[in-house]
Amino acid sequence: MSSNKVRVRFAPSPTGWLHIGGLRTALYNYLFARHHGGDFVLRIEDTDQKRYVEGAEQDIVESMKWAGMDYDEGPGKEGQFGPYRQSERSELYAKYASQLIEADHAYYAFDTTEDIEQMRERLQKSGNPSPKYDAITRMSMKNSLTLPADEVQQRLERGDEYVVRLKVPRRETIRFEDLVRGHVKFESQGLDDQVLLKSDGLPTYHLANVVDDHEMQISHVIRGEEWLSSAPKHILLYQYFGWEPPKMAPLPLIMSPAGGKLSKRKAEEQGIMVNVRDYQQGGYEPEALVNFLAYLGWSPGDDREIMSLEQLCKEFEMDRVSKSGAVFNTNKLTWYNEQYMRERSVESLLPEVKQEFEKAGITNIDDDYLSKVIPLMIERVSLLPEFAEHGKYYFVAPDEYDEKSVKKGWKEETPDLMKNYLGRIQELDEAGFQAATLKENLEAVVNEAGVGFGKLMQPLRVSVTGMGFGPDLFITMELLGKSETESRINAALERLG
Ligand code: GLU
Repeated sequence: MSSNKVRVRFAPSPTGWLHIGGLRTALYNYLFARHHGGDFVLRIEDTDQKRYVEGAEQDIVESMKWAGMDYDEGPGKEGQFGPYRQSERSELYAKYASQLIEADHAYYAFDTTEDIEQMRERLQKSGNPSPKYDAITRMSMKNSLTLPADEVQQRLERGDEYVVRLKVPRRETIRFEDLVRGHVKFESQGLDDQVLLKSDGLPTYHLANVVDDHEMQISHVIRGEEWLSSAPKHILLYQYFGWEPPKMAPLPLIMSPAGGKLSKRKAEEQGIMVNVRDYQQGGYEPEALVNFLAYLGWSPGDDREIMSLEQLCKEFEMDRVSKSGAVFNTNKLTWYNEQYMRERSVESLLPEVKQEFEKAGITNIDDDYLSKVIPLMIERVSLLPEFAEHGKYYFVAPDEYDEKSVKKGWKEETPDLMKNYLGRIQELDEAGFQAATLKENLEAVVNEAGVGFGKLMQPLRVSVTGMGFGPDLFITMELLGKSETESRINAALERLG
């Protein structure tokens, strides 16, 4: 590293839509960079052509933008360390691979898939349960360590397929410090002679990652714990190149509420969405998702839970990242979403809520009217689409009544109570049709009949809204207005008898 500046990178492979685990990794890098006044780099690791997905890079960029994370360098934002797509840097990797070969830390291997298969079978038969291409087996394979130099030269010249492999030492303890768990060590015996350059001339993740982290002067590598097992190979590479490795920080795994790592399949079973774009399309507040993800493996060490991105940048420190897995708690995310949504002004919510109603087929919405509905409903919804799911009756009369509530609340005496109430409110004029008066009248009716409040309240709610619960009913009736309310009560009397 030639400078002490904090430089971190988010290095996704464009193999699919950005998932929440990826967004959390991006976030931790972003927070760390901002906290230390450093640089946050986006690097696209697209050297695996088989797994490349069209549009994935764009999705990564857009999802990060939606979440409010801007990067300092990356595709479309060229800094002095570009290009930032690995596919545009292949010459560099080839150059460094040759350098390793010259220094006897890597070698050419010409083995076919069958050759390798045969080696595995042979070893398995002789009692080796996990045969590898390693310090022992490499000596019986077709590579530049076993073939005569002129044959190697010939093969290269005539364009035989080959890969470049790392010459992993037979017995060596590889040690490094990591910022989350401290001292870590691995035995080289467990490693295979990692392919560094593939037969298509492109590097594998390991070579490209190390070369780029060095070339881009990355100071800290913050990535998911699933990459921890790659670290010893990377450390060897740094050693062989004579470079100082960046500091490593593995982030705790994201766990399923049912236990185990939250895989795609497990997420599905739990009804957890994995792609960031699904949260965006599902009407989540980006600040809520960000706040939630920040706390998935980190905490400020006190009981504060609501923190804006800006505050998180101030507070985030690596030493408060936990070592153990973090369980994805959907209820917590919902709670965060409620908090952030309720913080928003009615004006800012209005266009989005309107859109939700439009999606549900309700058009010609009056903005003034909707701006009265929003504060009424806001305490009862957790997500934007729920406005339309639960609030259609503010715009259209119910076409059906919640069955359970009818069964529970619509009794023999109900029609008489309702008619009595209807008679009273019919006498009010438009100006007198107000929540407080509507409530007083209801109280008068139930008192007169000597029954409880709920005996009329419940069926009245069902008649007006079709539902068994909801925001303040009297304010709702006032909003709907006199004639609409009366017609709904009449319709219910007719249909429910
Ligand atoms: N390209 C790797 C990924 O998709 C990057 C891992 C790393 O950050 O080194 O996650």
